[in-house]
Amino acid sequence: MALLEVENLKVHFPLKTGWWGGASESVKAVDGVSFTIAPGETLGLVGESGCGKSTLGRAIVRLVDPTAGSVRFGGADLARLGSRELRERRRQLQIIFQDPYGSLNPRMTVEDIVGEALDIHKLTTGKAERRQRIEELLTDVGLDAKYIQRYPHEFSGGQRQRIGIARALAVKPQLIICDEPVSALDVSVQAQIINLLQDLQREHGIAYLFIAHDLAVVEHISQRVMVMYLGKVVELADARAIIRSPQHPYTQALISAVPEVDPDSKRQRIILPGDVPSPIHPPSGCPFHPRCPVAEARCRAEVPVLREVAPQHHVACHLAGPAVKPA
Ligand code: SF4
Repeated sequence: MALLEVENLKVHFPLKTGWWGGASESVKAVDGVSFTIAPGETLGLVGESGCGKSTLGRAIVRLVDPTAGSVRFGGADLARLGSRELRERRRQLQIIFQDPYGSLNPRMTVEDIVGEALDIHKLTTGKAERRQRIEELLTDVGLDAKYIQRYPHEFSGGQRQRIGIARALAVKPQLIICDEPVSALDVSVQAQIINLLQDLQREHGIAYLFIAHDLAVVEHISQRVMVMYLGKVVELADARAIIRSPQHPYTQALISAVPEVDPDSKRQRIILPGDVPSPIHPPSGCPFHPRCPVAEARCRAEVPVLREVAPQHHVACHLAGPAVKPA
């Protein structure tokens, strides 16, 4: 059974327009997204900034309210739970952010930051047990337990991300939404944090929704990859299939930008014209058609649905399928 089931999720932000401030337009940040995550699985989520991937992550943990659709976690619809049950489910569903410094209270010590999560959910009894558990968590994420009384500004970016991971780990989550957790870090530190997340997954069986704009990072950590464009999923498949045989022209362009190790590779860079259109007035038909190098007349009129073009390989493109050769 899936651990997380997201169905037709929409997050539309109303815009105030006109003299009386009535909302007649909206930003369709997430527009009908469906997917599942199995226990212990990592699903990578990629797309350019502004495609709705971070809003999707925040809507799953209810930091923003969905406009429509459902999020089922451990078989329960989160929108229908009472406050006590919701708090218990939310404990098992954590989020870590791109900017750990912004999400760590600068006036709290590491002991207080990690301890707060234990206190809220009453996971330890007594000061000694609390302190011991915090020290264990710091060791688990590769930090020296002697730093327990230090403040966030006394740590490097990578160490601060480790504190954020320790805080998430404190409540024994089943799923962590990783919202661009390594995007602000140096490449060498990125690798350390990704290795840490993988070690923790092996040890504790945690599932991840790993959000990033860098496909190379997502490919490394994920079993499956989902690509978003203008609030919609355009491709969802096994990570290898996405890299070796991308079917959607947008995914093909993203992959063409990933540096290759093989110097003999013939992969050609695909430069997309223009910018991502406004999600307030998305293009008609396929939202990608103004930038698509192979768009046809019907692409301007018909919205492509996400359909299975090969086993477990879903694509939202009229031309996708066995007959379409990857660029
Ligand atoms: Fe391009 Fe048409 Fe496919 Fe959209 S549906 S990605 S415009 S070919």
